[in-house]
Amino acid sequence: MAEKRENVVMFPFMAQGHIIPFLALALLIEKTRNYKITFVNTPLNIKKLRSSLPSDSCVQLLEIPFNSSDHGLPPNTENCDVVPYHLVVQLLEASASLRPVFKQLVEDIIRQQDGQRPLCIIGDIFFGWMAGVAEELGVFHAVFSGAGGFGLACYYSIWLNLPHKQVKKDGGDHFLLPDFQEASKIELTQLPLTMSVADGRDSWSIFHHKYLPEWTKSGGILFNTVEEFDDIGLVYFKRKLSKPVWAVGPILLSTENRVRASIGGATPEYCKAWLDSKPENSVLFVSFGSMNTISPSQMMELAKALELSGRHFIWVVRPPIGFDINSDFKSNEWLPEGFEERMRESEKGLLVNKWAPQQEILSHKSTSVFLSHCGWNSVLESLSHGVPLLGWAMAAEQFFNVKLLVEQVGVCVEVARGKTCEVKHEEVAAKIKLLMSDSEKGKEMRRKACEVREMIESAMKDDDEGGFKGSSVKAMDEFFHAAGTMRFQTHTPNQL
Ligand code: UDP
Repeated sequence: MAEKRENVVMFPFMAQGHIIPFLALALLIEKTRNYKITFVNTPLNIKKLRSSLPSDSCVQLLEIPFNSSDHGLPPNTENCDVVPYHLVVQLLEASASLRPVFKQLVEDIIRQQDGQRPLCIIGDIFFGWMAGVAEELGVFHAVFSGAGGFGLACYYSIWLNLPHKQVKKDGGDHFLLPDFQEASKIELTQLPLTMSVADGRDSWSIFHHKYLPEWTKSGGILFNTVEEFDDIGLVYFKRKLSKPVWAVGPILLSTENRVRASIGGATPEYCKAWLDSKPENSVLFVSFGSMNTISPSQMMELAKALELSGRHFIWVVRPPIGFDINSDFKSNEWLPEGFEERMRESEKGLLVNKWAPQQEILSHKSTSVFLSHCGWNSVLESLSHGVPLLGWAMAAEQFFNVKLLVEQVGVCVEVARGKTCEVKHEEVAAKIKLLMSDSEKGKEMRRKACEVREMIESAMKDDDEGGFKGSSVKAMDEFFHAAGTMRFQTHTPNQL
């Protein structure tokens, strides 16, 4: 009898920032291994995914029933991108209630496979409950983190311990990360808003306290990162959970770019033509990811800083805070008077509405520095092209990413912090000039960013003939080996 193909079941939390890295991982696994991949999500997300899946992909998209109204959410709200921010935690709680349905779904898969269990279940960092389901069914389970090792370690350690609660009470302004081997100082201003106001009784704390400890039931954590420059967090988890971690990155999000490029913003050809007309290493790229934006006053200051710096730039402009996110570009309300015309006429700056082909821009030889919110995908994309960063973290673990890049990796200068901080254009312009000039600091950052690019290239190397495998390729092999070994060792689950 022909052997059945191994099945890998993947289920990300319902947010673009989670679904897209999961999908990128699914496509990578599909490309490199002969496994069947079942990608689970709620109906509306699956519908969206159908149009973004490459036509040659055989990833099976599977709907898990979900009715947002049953969970007190507005009708048809199945993704963070349509949920108002204060309801995100409600969506998280609703997703945890999918436990029995998910278990049933995996049982059905096993039944359809004549009793053969999936090779593994890859679950979201927010779905700690999934490790318990996998355990009950005798299936290997791993958490997949689209965030980096250090960023996730800070997130995990702070949510589980809430060390800042006491510091705030005592009137301090920083604390040391609990359980970290190396003393690591976090300033209160480096905490994302939900974390900073958490007191243990709020919904986010309750959710995290219930589900983060469940990771101990898991087989380990897969990271979209590279161990050569992001090992502090990896070591933290190995020690804390006594579990393996596998750094398999960078898994870059080309899917995301394809989908978004087709719905607006500047085309890759347009940006390339503009960049082609500029000297090598002369352009600053400014973008704050797929969701974040800054306040109107910060936007004014940033525009003035760009003009004052005198450098070429591409700036992806999203409506500032307080404006409808779907609003048309309002140059005269958001930017200094005449700014857009001056930039266009002098050909100094290209303003792009909402969405730009980021990877194409970062890979162009004219691009020199990236002013970024330091979302982990942006960080990986920038460093994969040897582009140093100016960091302006806004939410989630971005603050910890900036800390890692500034203090440990040496490829970033922090330019501002948060969506509400006061920004002075003279200071921002000075930092832009510093990094883009031939100053010692500028040269040093660019040299380090190139070193990191080489580390990344080496981590991804899979040389069949020479026999060399980079750390990320090896880690992926080890992960699947662990999954296979576990299945071999476990007893057959009860007949389903
Ligand atoms: N992105 C893009 N063009 C844009 C904005 C974002 O291509 O104008 C892509 C970017 O290349 C990255 C992703 O969207 O792959 C953003 O992910 P990241 O983790 O950096 O930030 P998030 O959007 O999750 O805050």
